[in-house]
Amino acid sequence: MFKPRRRKVRIVATLGPASRSPDMIRALFEAGADVFRINMSHGTQADRAEIIGNIRALEEEVGRPTTILVDLQGPKLRVGTFADGPVELKKGQLFTFDRDERPGNAERVHLPHAEVFSALSVGARLLIDDGKVSVEAIEVHPDRIVTKVLVAGKISNHKGVNVPDVVIPLAALTDKDRRDLAFALDAGADWIALSFVQRPEDVAETRKLVAGRAGVLAKIEKPSAIDRLDEILDLADAVMVARGDLGVELPVAEVPPLQKQIVAAARAKGKTVVVATQMLESMIQNPVPTRAEVSDVANAIYDGADAVMLSAESAAGSYPIEAVAMMDEIAAQVEGDPTYQARVHFSETRPEATSADAISAAAGQAAATLAAKALCCFTTSGSTAHRASRERPNAPILVLTPSLETARRLGIVWGLHAVRTKDVTSFEEMVEKSKRMALRTKLASAGDRVIIMAGYPFGTPGSTNVLHISRLQGSELKD
Ligand code: PGA
Ligand code: MN
Repeated sequence: MFKPRRRKVRIVATLGPASRSPDMIRALFEAGADVFRINMSHGTQADRAEIIGNIRALEEEVGRPTTILVDLQGPKLRVGTFADGPVELKKGQLFTFDRDERPGNAERVHLPHAEVFSALSVGARLLIDDGKVSVEAIEVHPDRIVTKVLVAGKISNHKGVNVPDVVIPLAALTDKDRRDLAFALDAGADWIALSFVQRPEDVAETRKLVAGRAGVLAKIEKPSAIDRLDEILDLADAVMVARGDLGVELPVAEVPPLQKQIVAAARAKGKTVVVATQMLESMIQNPVPTRAEVSDVANAIYDGADAVMLSAESAAGSYPIEAVAMMDEIAAQVEGDPTYQARVHFSETRPEATSADAISAAAGQAAATLAAKALCCFTTSGSTAHRASRERPNAPILVLTPSLETARRLGIVWGLHAVRTKDVTSFEEMVEKSKRMALRTKLASAGDRVIIMAGYPFGTPGSTNVLHISRLQGSELKD
């Protein structure tokens, strides 16, 4: 039987050249990675199939449901190529983006996205190479955009372009995304992350294609997505505070308050929220992070985010294991801080007027009053577990589910420990099973109390309406 993590926050580790081997995946798991992210912007399909195979082999070996997040590249804009290598743009000079496929020079370059030409207006900015170079449109024609350079710098082949000032009528999914999505669903991904979401319709379209086979996570990295955050949250199962592109599209100083806003809004709706990018950036090269990075990870945990994420640190850095271990250590310190519960509850998540929320809130309270060691809930779809986690109770939440897919998907959610069990047919059987699993997973021992949330009559989905308090004898383990 697996040992559940002691912490509540989850760790997402991106896999890449530095961490794709079976040994590295196992080492990252042992160091504390709960979710493995595969970034479709890099690598080949054969690579990814192999990585997913390695993760599933580890899952089998350790006997613990393991979560796979496949991150689609999305409609990332890029310039074409240059005839004679990189060009240097000077402040105040004119530079043209056009629909001419010939290699570019110091005056012009191809921009292979027709949609931008019709969407852009005079005064809109184009940010190139993570915002290192910035230009402003001064003339917009159907076949070319003449710009003036605001911030000078070098641009080279296929550099990324961000257009923060307008909503571009780009499809949410490119042809490549559609192929990658089909592959990911076939390969058994638990979560699909959608990049550069601009509108709620982008999420709706993806949801339709995914058709319940995976959770849908919307990456919040465009100002237009912030404007419609509420509607996006209603449609998505999860969101990511994608601080990398968000900090290009908006002034970086706006990112921290937005992070707080997104985390609070997601938590209020009971949607999963991941904080991502540059969390331990200096650990790409160094075995020890900066103090500021440690504080950044800690603050995301104090805010009650479901998960914190590593990108290049675990995918391509020199210290992937140390980076995961560092997050694990920071989480242990933060969650052990006596002020942690109060800080997490700074963000209000009032129960909605449903019996599931009433029971979840009461269960959290009962657990605190009685110092119960675990909250147990039985779920098929996972929705009861999401509502229980939304309360951010002090006790760990033991989730029993007959569905391996549900157990895997819940691995990214705050405070949940999902175990796959055989279906149960009666209330008494479920109580016995909850107690047995609480003992087996060592979340609780003889003499401890556990709180069990259930639906009665048994087997009606979405009917959580019973709160049962039980003391463990220790004899439940037998049979
Ligand atoms: P990316 O997304 O790493 O796929 O760009 C995260 C971000 O932009 O922060
Ligand atoms: Mn991004």
